[in-house]
Amino acid sequence: MTAAEFPILGTEPLAVELANTLYGVGQAQIDFLADDRQVDQWFAEVSVRHEVAASMGRHAEQVRTLRDCVHALLSAAVEGRDPGTAAVERVNGFAAAAPTFLRLDWRDGPPAARRLDAATGAAAVLGRIATSCVELLTGPRAGRVRRCHGPDCSLFFVQHHSRRRWCHPSCGHRDRQARYYRRHLTSGGSG
Ligand SMILES: [Zn+2]
Repeated sequence: MTAAEFPILGTEPLAVELANTLYGVGQAQIDFLADDRQVDQWFAEVSVRHEVAASMGRHAEQVRTLRDCVHALLSAAVEGRDPGTAAVERVNGFAAAAPTFLRLDWRDGPPAARRLDAATGAAAVLGRIATSCVELLTGPRAGRVRRCHGPDCSLFFVQHHSRRRWCHPSCGHRDRQARYYRRHLTSGGSG
């Protein structure tokens, strides 16, 4: 598998991109982080946009655990139901293992704050993703997580404007095409 095949939207918070590595629903679900090499490749790919250590393959199991929990929380948010306590507690655990602190920089100009990780390595990366998940579900973007309406697409995305229904314009195109054909078939044509 090449990195280009990962379902990375390139527009979403890291927690959403991670959840999207569990693609599809039910029996047809595909795990894009099934082995260590894929985990390494995926992090290398997302590190272009997000500040994350590219070498996470050795921590693949923890990555998948966090991914499954984030996926469960985003699914619950989209479906408007209670997620249960297990996923909540695990995400909190990952976030607690990597606290951040503000560092004051005040030299040659106005005071500025920089957020730094207290942890390093894999714990910091996993913690940052967990924190991003908490912020997404509770911050100004709360209630804006959506699942793509495209046929056979299950990707999550954050809705920035009220009309966005698809993860990507190509899914919108496929969705409109599918609806066109359905209308055509059911409106009593030759088919
Ligand atoms: Zn889609």
